[in-house]
Amino acid sequence: MDLAIVDTTLITFQKEGLGIIEQGGLGIRGNKIVFVGKSDDLRDADEVIDGSNCITMPGLIDAHAHTGLALLRGGAQDMPEIEWMRKGLGPFVRNMTEKDKKAGSKLGVIEGLRSGTTTFCEFSANVRKYVENVYKPFKVRTVAVETLNEVTGVDDKGLYEFDESKGELGLKRADELVDEYGENEMVKPCYGPQALDMVSMDLIKGVNKHAHQREADIHMHVAQGERERIQVKNRYGDSTVKVISDLGMLNHRFVAVHCHDTEYEEKECMAERGVRMVGCPSSIAMIDGIVPPIHDFLSLDAAGGVGTDQAPGPGGHNMFRELRTAAVITKVRDRDPTRLPSWEVLKLGTVGGAKALGIDNGVGTLEVGKSADVITIDMSSANLTPRVSEPFHNYVATLVHSSTGKEVREVIINGDIVIRNGGFTSIDEESIVKEGQERGKCLFERGAKDWEEEAGRMAKEMG
Ligand SMILES: [Zn+2]
Repeated sequence: MDLAIVDTTLITFQKEGLGIIEQGGLGIRGNKIVFVGKSDDLRDADEVIDGSNCITMPGLIDAHAHTGLALLRGGAQDMPEIEWMRKGLGPFVRNMTEKDKKAGSKLGVIEGLRSGTTTFCEFSANVRKYVENVYKPFKVRTVAVETLNEVTGVDDKGLYEFDESKGELGLKRADELVDEYGENEMVKPCYGPQALDMVSMDLIKGVNKHAHQREADIHMHVAQGERERIQVKNRYGDSTVKVISDLGMLNHRFVAVHCHDTEYEEKECMAERGVRMVGCPSSIAMIDGIVPPIHDFLSLDAAGGVGTDQAPGPGGHNMFRELRTAAVITKVRDRDPTRLPSWEVLKLGTVGGAKALGIDNGVGTLEVGKSADVITIDMSSANLTPRVSEPFHNYVATLVHSSTGKEVREVIINGDIVIRNGGFTSIDEESIVKEGQERGKCLFERGAKDWEEEAGRMAKEMG
């Protein structure tokens, strides 16, 4: 055995419950988990990590993120949804360079790693660049979604205009990505139409056909809110879910992100057809003032996951914060404190996210034969004390509602130790943060004039 974590509390997520093993041990050989059980039964390993006072569990799965926007952290908040993209984010995004996106992505991924994320679903145009420049060198598992968007400009009035050549190029990039990474263990490639209002009918049909031919997933923002509803209604006279249902897209290879603007019957139809759902609680609270219907889909037996989405609105890529937000705002929405209990939320961030992304054969639980994506969390800090197992495991709730993410001590991805004893083993965090600060400052300065001219609510309030 190459690596063993001993004398630890394992949360394995095996079978229906949480699969907790006290005084547990975990063995890793190469990139696989080869032992899960009692610490006493664990044979010698080349390297042993003392896991006492730690929870050891599967790495968290961020089921939807745009890390390339992280340089704009805190840059588009407290504004109406209809303004968010055009007047909030747009003026700064227009001033971003490829280097800015790369530097931002590194910041976002570092933040996620530090708080226990081992798989990121990255949704970006030219996503291959993020795979090659960030995820591969950082040794991080990725579901890589190539964004497809044909819109030439977004305004408040009329239907958006499309540039078909943009769509053709995007589809070609997506095909190439899927062809290149289709069999890759660390990268799962997917097609990503940005939203039904942002692609033409020809393109969405093309995506559906190409994805079907290659047996690849389609990962798409669905029924996010007012902007999309108005565009889709005016163009097709129907709702997003009805239109994509008629196109035969609702099936087990479809991942629907958001789904806020859906009728109960539409949710039921999606769940019945095996559509997987991802909600982004902090982001959507900030952009739309809406609580994602994660609980609704789970209660219909659909696979559901949670994503951090982007940093400009909600502020970051910390999955522990995201899980807590999911639980708290769902309880408030339904005026029902039994909604999204801690054990269910913790599953959403691990095995649930893996199922939502269709990677649960390899990750999401601690099981012999699965890939070694494992985190340890030091439970000895004041905010996580006391930790008891009788009469129940209080630390499940503590993890969800009291951890900050900073308590994550080890991060192991595919058998590689990325963070050991709180420090990165091969990533130069200091220089990445320094570059992020310098580039971010310049970017906000460059975008300031455009932002003021767009005169969104935030710009007016600042004035
Ligand atoms: Zn998104």
